[in-house]
Amino acid sequence: MLTRKPIFPGIIELNFQAGEVLGCNVYLVYDGDEWILIDVGYEETVEDFVEIIRQVDFPFSRCKTLVATHADVDHIQGLAKAKQLLKTSVTAHPNAVAPLQSGDTLITLAEIAAQDLKMAMPPVEIEHEVNDGDIIEVGSLQIEVWHTPGHTNSQLAFRIGDVLLSGDNIYRDGCIGAIDAHHGSDIKAFVSSLERIRDSDVKWLAPSHGPIFANDRDLLDSTIQRVRGYLKMADFGTLAESWPLMDEWDEEVAAGRLPDGLTQ
Ligand SMILES: [Zn+2]
Repeated sequence: MLTRKPIFPGIIELNFQAGEVLGCNVYLVYDGDEWILIDVGYEETVEDFVEIIRQVDFPFSRCKTLVATHADVDHIQGLAKAKQLLKTSVTAHPNAVAPLQSGDTLITLAEIAAQDLKMAMPPVEIEHEVNDGDIIEVGSLQIEVWHTPGHTNSQLAFRIGDVLLSGDNIYRDGCIGAIDAHHGSDIKAFVSSLERIRDSDVKWLAPSHGPIFANDRDLLDSTIQRVRGYLKMADFGTLAESWPLMDEWDEEVAAGRLPDGLTQ
């Protein structure tokens, strides 16, 4: 038996509990004997995480559900296996249901042909859908569900008192979850989700990757400003809403203008 190392009352992060980073952050939220997991990570680490849960003495029969923060492979590839081991249900946002139930390797980013990347994505049945404003009860704990699209259209965050389990919205260094059209990123929605986090009275952000950190207005402001800039940058392809250089080019073509010093 191991001593539990909760990071907040009722919240254990399993990598921190293990003293070793095995993958994405996996939060075990509990009250009394009842508990849930928020994300489970890759299939190959499921048994390690389950063993940690056994060592900190949570009865498997009291696992209420496994919750997916969103439908990206590094968070949810192990759902089918964890569900089988723990004999419980799976909970996700409605936008995550089709990719998870069909084991869609493209939307979950399990398969990136151009990078020779191909991972299995075992399909898993979703029993419960949750959306913004819903409450997940664990014992007497009330977990408030936030829908925070941007990184993906299924991204959820979970508020427990002063803490937001903030998913792939923002990390301690100001980086954000990957922007990629293939898994449903939306830059405008991302800005709104980050503004919502900034403007809330949440004190702590517990992200899906890396360390926990304070909800700091300056960090959020500089990140929001950067992400808003992506809307007008060719770097983000079809996810940008405009590219000002093309307006300049229109004018220069119409005027027959070339750079100073270049003669026809
Ligand atoms: Zn992700």
